[in-house]
Amino acid sequence: MKPTELKDAVDKRRTFAIISHPDAGKTTITEQMLLYGGVIREAGTVKGKKSGHFAKSDWMEIEKKRGISVTSSVMQFDFEGKRVNILDTPGHEDFSEDTYRTLMAVDAAVMVIDSAKGIEEQTKKLFKVCKMRGIPIFTFMNKLDRDGREPLDLITELEELLNIEGYPMNWPIGMGKGLKGLYDIANQRVELYHPYNGKTYLPLNPETGEVEGDNPLADDSIYQQTLDDVQLLMEAGNKFDPEKIAHGDQTPIFFGSALTNFGVKTFLQSFLKMAPAPEAHKNEVDDHEIEPTNPEFSGFVFKIQANMNPNHRDRIAFVRICSGEFDKGMDVTLHRTGKQMRLNNSTEFMADSREQVSTAVAGDIIGLYDTGNFQIGDSIYSGKQDAELPPLPQFTPEVFVRVSPKNVMKQKSYHKGIQQLVQEGAVQLYTMYNSGDYVLGAVGQLQFEVFQFRMLNEYNSEVVMTPIGHRVARWVDPEQLDPNMSSSRNLLVKDIHGDPMFLFENDFALRWFTGKYPDVKLTAKL
Ligand code: GDP
Repeated sequence: MKPTELKDAVDKRRTFAIISHPDAGKTTITEQMLLYGGVIREAGTVKGKKSGHFAKSDWMEIEKKRGISVTSSVMQFDFEGKRVNILDTPGHEDFSEDTYRTLMAVDAAVMVIDSAKGIEEQTKKLFKVCKMRGIPIFTFMNKLDRDGREPLDLITELEELLNIEGYPMNWPIGMGKGLKGLYDIANQRVELYHPYNGKTYLPLNPETGEVEGDNPLADDSIYQQTLDDVQLLMEAGNKFDPEKIAHGDQTPIFFGSALTNFGVKTFLQSFLKMAPAPEAHKNEVDDHEIEPTNPEFSGFVFKIQANMNPNHRDRIAFVRICSGEFDKGMDVTLHRTGKQMRLNNSTEFMADSREQVSTAVAGDIIGLYDTGNFQIGDSIYSGKQDAELPPLPQFTPEVFVRVSPKNVMKQKSYHKGIQQLVQEGAVQLYTMYNSGDYVLGAVGQLQFEVFQFRMLNEYNSEVVMTPIGHRVARWVDPEQLDPNMSSSRNLLVKDIHGDPMFLFENDFALRWFTGKYPDVKLTAKL
């Protein structure tokens, strides 16, 4: 690709993650977007009918959920001159680590909220993860075809609970059975729920803010009320601020109904205009910025997923391309080992099929078949300049179990399974300082359940997990470490890099320790 072609291709990319509390409508809106992109022809393709609710935290459900969010975890389509990459994220808080890593690979996020429910617990947690990343966040208030909460109420709640400014891009005219349309502030038009004389959009008069010409809503009291609301908003509400939006300090809010495909196109169009194209990434090696249009290829692995397709039993490393162009068969260097490798097996993810990708550029996500070369966070690059992209932050685990194989004769599959699942980032692995026994750490209990299930199903290894409960994990400076400092209240373990850390029984044990050894430096991750 010529430099100008690469630049054009990069400028077209819009790569974002979509987050929501389970059942808010993430799948439905994703499907509508895929329909616009011509990737699927019929709604209902992405996910089969659900037989239950994920929030019940039944691990069988996780597997079902995994079936969907995995095969469709990266989707790509073209729309109005843009190439869009959507990354799905797991809804459950126990997988927030996974969500965070996915957020590292995107340039913006879309948050879907059920307008009848408002900000739910899970939205709060996912949002927090999103906010840490400092990328633009766009909000879609869904299910307007149902009676929901007052829009102003929803925005106030969003601002208070999430500590972000809201800026409504449009405003509902009615809701539920009384839904008439959207007063589209950004596009200066009214979008009708039921088209009138074949028209869906009615332009506004910029002076009066009223519909110009023939208006089916002219005598509608809800429409009149909307005009008043919008006027109040414009006078007293937040001012539209692109700078704040760019940093995730203000969120543009769109109303609509994914199920009835109302407001989705408007959302998609505005979103694609406002969301940033891929930006530069810092090279940790020399602190220089790697521009996305740099002709040398670079990228990092943000997710590794094993056995996505039970018929294939393969393992895929997901790479976010940060610069240059990917060509099938190209040679790259793996920064961690300095080893050269040839990338000749890649796969691109579509909603219902996998197709071989031949070319992809900065902003795109590629899936590479992996035979155990990659770890989460690995950087790869072409050319001579060594590149290390910013590391993926690690969460400090909060729950821990001791783990051992049920059948000691099956050590081989046990070790293989643990090693691979840990490389995937499914759980964190620690070894007891003295005995060498394995301890697993996770952000949420469900991660262990998935681990146990997958060990059995994918590696034929039955594992015994003995809870050691919630613990407070802190890394300790190896220079200051004396193994005699450990006790049952503060277990001494090594992390996967061999760095020592204490697992304290609780905050009390931590305080006791810092009181006893005031000079010993303890650190936490995210
Ligand atoms: P997810 O768990 O966030 O992916 O949510 P889904 O997209 O699976 O939607 C959960 C449920 O809400 C499904 O039964 C959808 O049909 C329904 N749903 C999604 N969007 C809307 C909407 O705009 N209006 C209504 N009435 N239902 C919706």
